[in-house]
Amino acid sequence: MIPYPVQDTSAVHPPTRKGPSCFQGTSGGGVLLLQQQVLAMEQCACVERELEKVLHRFVTYGHQSEERLDELLRNVCELRSQLVTFGVQDTDLSVLSQTMAQCCKEIKETVQMLASRHKDIHGSVSKVGKAIDRNFDAEVSAVVAETVWDSSEKQRNLSETIVEHLYRQGMLSVAEDLCQESGVVIDMSMKQPFLELNRILEALRMQDLRPALEWAVTNRQRLLDLNSSLEFKLHRLYFISLLNGGVENQLEALHYARHFQPFAAQHQRDIQVLMGSLVYLRNGIENSPYRSLLETNQWAEICNIFTRDACALLGLSVESPLSVSFASGCMALPVLMNIKQVIEQRQCSGVWTHKDELPIEIDLGKKCWYHSVFACPILRQQTSESNPPMKLICGHVISRDALNKLTNAGKLKCPYCPMEQNPSDAKQIYF
Ligand SMILES: [Zn+2]
Repeated sequence: MIPYPVQDTSAVHPPTRKGPSCFQGTSGGGVLLLQQQVLAMEQCACVERELEKVLHRFVTYGHQSEERLDELLRNVCELRSQLVTFGVQDTDLSVLSQTMAQCCKEIKETVQMLASRHKDIHGSVSKVGKAIDRNFDAEVSAVVAETVWDSSEKQRNLSETIVEHLYRQGMLSVAEDLCQESGVVIDMSMKQPFLELNRILEALRMQDLRPALEWAVTNRQRLLDLNSSLEFKLHRLYFISLLNGGVENQLEALHYARHFQPFAAQHQRDIQVLMGSLVYLRNGIENSPYRSLLETNQWAEICNIFTRDACALLGLSVESPLSVSFASGCMALPVLMNIKQVIEQRQCSGVWTHKDELPIEIDLGKKCWYHSVFACPILRQQTSESNPPMKLICGHVISRDALNKLTNAGKLKCPYCPMEQNPSDAKQIYF
């Protein structure tokens, strides 16, 4: 199933006009989605309530059993001390045996009581399972094309994608096991970049900048070609970590500042701030106007920047393809099942053929916008090379065919604002 391209058109034409969709015109697509969301939330809440009951019983059970066990332990200890002193003091043997029998009885009763309560909890746990079955539709075959995983090639593709995902996550041994079990052969050249990225990221998370710096210096030119400021940011962070050490590091920090030299033109302002902070080193940067340099979120930020730029340089996507597919599947599935139901109710099967289209839009945020397409808001057609999107001087965008149709006596009136203009002033735009 090839995802329907996400429309990146909200900025250029009114958001109420959506791109072509099988369901354009059928009433209340948005309402449908909203109802679906409300329903899903209710379903989650229902399961959550059952879960809370189980958790509550677990906690109560824990407290109760601890109390009872403590009590028993106290009794046993007491009994032991009585046994130790037996013979030394004048304790009656029959009294002692009675106490022992009583203690054994209590232990037995407690064990029975705890076991039966434990059984009760099992009942609550199985209720959670039932609540899940009741609230969530496990039958998704209606919206899944049966032939998706038919061929061995597709199976292999799936295995490879999972293996790649595991490498990305640094779960090397799991990936190796999967390779062995599925018979997938992964080329070392595919594995290597992930291993290296993981090693460097691991170090960055431990606030060790050296592996990342070595990598950035080695790849300096290629990073600069990508317009990446990764190397500068790594040096900057190293400099800040020196500032953190206080006045003892002053000389080292000054020496280290020579690393900023190649970046002087591009990051002049940042470098000025860093050098200016040295003045306050004696009194502590944390008490100076430069205290923002010490913000701790910079470490998380540098991990993100490193991942983004290193992936770009290695030609890898920043997000794991498997995660993105999974997330879009989670969003699409409930809506698709609802649509399927609507199709069946209205007896218009054949509208959606399962082929290579997804009759809904999936929004996973800006970083997951792929293959942007533009649908002309006037002609309601997807633009193409022969009919490209054209930006009018007022900023509105329509297709060239629409522009030609709307042109009257060498003048064009924008259908949206409506500014009068010369059609030849319109510029073709590229996504
Ligand atoms: Zn306009």
